[in-house]
Amino acid sequence: MSQIDNLPPLREVIETHDLVAKKSLGQNFLLDLNLTAKIARQAGDLTECDVLEVGPGPGGLTRGLLAEGARKVLAVEKDSRAMAPLAEIQAAYPGRLEVINADALELDPLEHLTAPVRIVSNLPYNVGTELLVRWLTPKSWPPAWSSLTLMFQKEVAERIVAKPGSKAYGRLAVLAQWRADPRIVMELAPEAFTPPPKIRSAVVHLEALPEPRFEADGKKLQMVVATAFNQRRKMLRASLKGLSPDIIDILTSVGIKPTCRAEEIGLEEFCALTRALTGATGK
Ligand code: SAM
Repeated sequence: MSQIDNLPPLREVIETHDLVAKKSLGQNFLLDLNLTAKIARQAGDLTECDVLEVGPGPGGLTRGLLAEGARKVLAVEKDSRAMAPLAEIQAAYPGRLEVINADALELDPLEHLTAPVRIVSNLPYNVGTELLVRWLTPKSWPPAWSSLTLMFQKEVAERIVAKPGSKAYGRLAVLAQWRADPRIVMELAPEAFTPPPKIRSAVVHLEALPEPRFEADGKKLQMVVATAFNQRRKMLRASLKGLSPDIIDILTSVGIKPTCRAEEIGLEEFCALTRALTGATGK
């Protein structure tokens, strides 16, 4: 039911443009415009912001973002079949929607936007984690975006907000929580989508911190964390031994028991370990 604008309901848009969902493109569309407007509101006040949306598809979330007052939306969509419905939205919101028909993994759309920038997307599941990691690891910090509001499989959302000691805690949690404040702000049942996926979904909102919580070189921290969690059941003295012949001493020097496993180590300890390893190896 469309109450947020004067454009046709999304079911009609999909029928008119023969936009049958393709599994290969991770297409599970949101057709309830009240729901897409609610997701847009989770991003905060959009009126002074440029918004990047990856994967607009038939434009349900795009319409939500525009109806919620986004200054400008840049939508990057790989499927050329979506260009016609998106052009109708452009006509309804003159000058406020730019569309790029491209693979979001192949370009840096943030270059086209003016700060402050919020990224809001119902991401294709097959590229969601890769895009998140890219946005969390820019060349310098603070990044070009001020917040991310992203739909993920619920299991991935739980990995982003997980705390030490839980099964979901790993590389994604450390990366996301080191330089941002992530929270799950909505959960969606499969029936919210057309076609319904097999799993539940969740929206995660991440506000970028002005600076990382603890000092560490981003690339080295990522490498240490990836190495530690690669063999998450092993003790750190074993899983990290390839990083330094003195790993037991280095772990001890930063107050980490060499017999601990990666999932027991908090963010502050991972950063301290990264700094100590950098000092010890010079690499
Ligand atoms: N935003 C729409 C909605 O909420 O109904 C569609 C969401 S659907 C889960 C994911 C969208 O991402 C699809 O429209 C798909 O074509 C698009 N997509 C998939 N891979 C992409 C990529 N690499 N770059 C840009 N768009 C992509």
